[in-house]
Amino acid sequence: MATERDPSELAAFLALISSVLQNERGLRADSEHQAEENARLLDALRERQVLLERLAQLQRGIVDRLPVHEVLDAVVESACELLDCRVGILWIADPDDPDHSAAVATMGADEELLERRRQPTDEGLSGRAISERTLVVADAVIGAGHDDDLADFPHDGLTAAMAAPVFERSRVVGSLGVASTEPGRVYEARDQQVLLSLAEHASLALNHARAGEEAVHEALHDSLTGLPNRSLFLDRMRHALARAERGLEPVAVLFCDLDGFKTVNDSLGHRTGDRLLVSVAERLIECLRPADTIARLGGDEFAVLLEELREPGDAARAAQRLLDALKAPFDLRGREFFISASIGIAAGAGDAETLLRDADLAMYRAKGRGKGRYAVYEPGMHTAIVERLELEVDLKRALEREELAVVYQPVFSLLDGRVTGVEALVRWHHPTRGVVMPENFVPLAEESGLIGELGRWVLRKACHQGALWRAKYPGHPGLGIGVNISGAQLQEPGLVQEVADALAESQLDATGLMLEITETALMESFDNAIEQMDALNDLGVDLAIDDFGTGYSSLRYLRRLPLDVMKIEKSFVGGIGGPGEEAELLRAIVDLAGIFGLRVVAEGIERPDQRERLLELGCELGQGHLLAEPLDAADADALLLRVGLLGGEGAGPSGPPAGDPSSPATIERQVDRGAD
Ligand code: C2E
Ligand code: MG
Ligand code: MG
Repeated sequence: MATERDPSELAAFLALISSVLQNERGLRADSEHQAEENARLLDALRERQVLLERLAQLQRGIVDRLPVHEVLDAVVESACELLDCRVGILWIADPDDPDHSAAVATMGADEELLERRRQPTDEGLSGRAISERTLVVADAVIGAGHDDDLADFPHDGLTAAMAAPVFERSRVVGSLGVASTEPGRVYEARDQQVLLSLAEHASLALNHARAGEEAVHEALHDSLTGLPNRSLFLDRMRHALARAERGLEPVAVLFCDLDGFKTVNDSLGHRTGDRLLVSVAERLIECLRPADTIARLGGDEFAVLLEELREPGDAARAAQRLLDALKAPFDLRGREFFISASIGIAAGAGDAETLLRDADLAMYRAKGRGKGRYAVYEPGMHTAIVERLELEVDLKRALEREELAVVYQPVFSLLDGRVTGVEALVRWHHPTRGVVMPENFVPLAEESGLIGELGRWVLRKACHQGALWRAKYPGHPGLGIGVNISGAQLQEPGLVQEVADALAESQLDATGLMLEITETALMESFDNAIEQMDALNDLGVDLAIDDFGTGYSSLRYLRRLPLDVMKIEKSFVGGIGGPGEEAELLRAIVDLAGIFGLRVVAEGIERPDQRERLLELGCELGQGHLLAEPLDAADADALLLRVGLLGGEGAGPSGPPAGDPSSPATIERQVDRGAD
């Protein structure tokens, strides 16, 4: 039996079917769409993957410091490949001629471009990318009057092109361009992104390469003058020596050290010192041939490598040219300034280090001979250095073996012959060399770090002696003992305490001690000196500026120092009465001392006329062989006794005739005879 269906049920059923079908259809369409979408995404992902891989490759190349041209080639190649372009080109502006650019990497370019490889920087699409500092696109328009636009893509039948700027730091230095021959080619946003990203990598490669070059340059050059440094100089020497060995002309090295540069630096400031070094470098460069190498070895040391010398005298002539070049004054901060140099010359073969060291030794000889000159290396110079080293070893033992002694040179009133003080001077009784003078071992003690111990010893000894004499000879009121303090001692933070200890130990009143510090030492490190001097001044001791007139004191500095005494360098006194007399200068120095309220002492008085002249100029205190030589303690004691007994009268300006027994000079001669 047939079952009859309700027509409304049927309709509902059909509607259901239809809706299911519709849904089904919709779903199918959706999934098709989804599949398409997925495929597109997958493509994009794949492309992206390829792009990322390419970029990672480029980055590795950059980090591994592949030659920059290889990295740039890879950038152009990646651009063509990733963007499916026929032509790729990277233009970089010529650093020496920024108006022109060079094609540093190309792909698919015509022969013509490969030959030319150079164009005005502002030309074509690349020129626009550079001037507008942004990506520029010219697609699907080529051949329609836009040829100018593509002057930088010399390839026929191009349909589209784009270029992105390449930066070095923040400066645009070039552009990366691609062009296509595919009809109707359009560069979409995604393509543009790819090009930009590759251009960024080109920038990265350039910056990295530049940083590398700078690092290499920095490692081999002196940053102040831009000259090669010691390692580059030695390298050039090695090459030159190798060439010389192959039979070409010999090689010479000039070792050049400025005279007194440290003082200039310290008194005028480091900035001015630096400026002087730069000017000196310029002067030196000017008088060399292009083939010669000049380097700054450090501080105020320069070295010159001379190749292809024709005559043995060539190196000496070159050295003289350098010395002459420095003769004209330097203009520093509007002031004229003079500086000389000492040059050592070493010529020949052998290894670079030895030749440079030989030239260095010869330079020391030039300094020793009076600076401002050159000296040629001789084998004997080694012996001198060895001797110096031996002396240093001996000096270490001298302190333990009590080979040091102190002698005392009295300071007189030039007016009345009174002894106003005594200067303690150190001597070394060397077991085989005899008496060694301070100028031959005090600098050595400073360099080898023995000065602290040596200085302490002299200070103690002198304070002790000073205290004895003050107690023994009240007839010499205010008798003081002078002790020399070297520049190196002044740098020692413990100096003030040492002085305080020496005073306490010897029970010498602080007013009985005068510390003498050379002008050069004071100016060498003024800031440090001033602190120490203030502290010493607080102890109540007198402070003297020694050898005044040899350094470069500025008046401002002088005023700032708590000084009591100024000792005029003996060369000024030596010049009196001779052709080198600098009467005006001497008068100015005495006046200067007066202005600063300093007692002034003339050193090195050897003749009566010098004493008279000094008195005329207003200098009333002096020491020197005319008055008394440095004496050992016993002789000095005898002199003090005698002068004290005589009351020092009669040694005034119109004083006694030579040979008068009351003249200090005569007294000293008597003492000498007594000692014989
Ligand atoms: P200075 O402090 O300027 O000492 C004066 C120098 O002139 C002494 O040389 C002295 O012997 C010398 N002299 C004295 N009268 C005359 C003269 O009429 N004509 C000539 N041509 N010279 C004269 P000396 O003893 O050789 O000392 C040289 C320098 O060595 C001293 O110069 C001082 O700067 C330094 N010195 C000496 N003893 C010491 C010391 O114990 N410690 C330190 N750090 N330096 C010392
Ligand atoms: Mg002195
Ligand atoms: Mg002196």
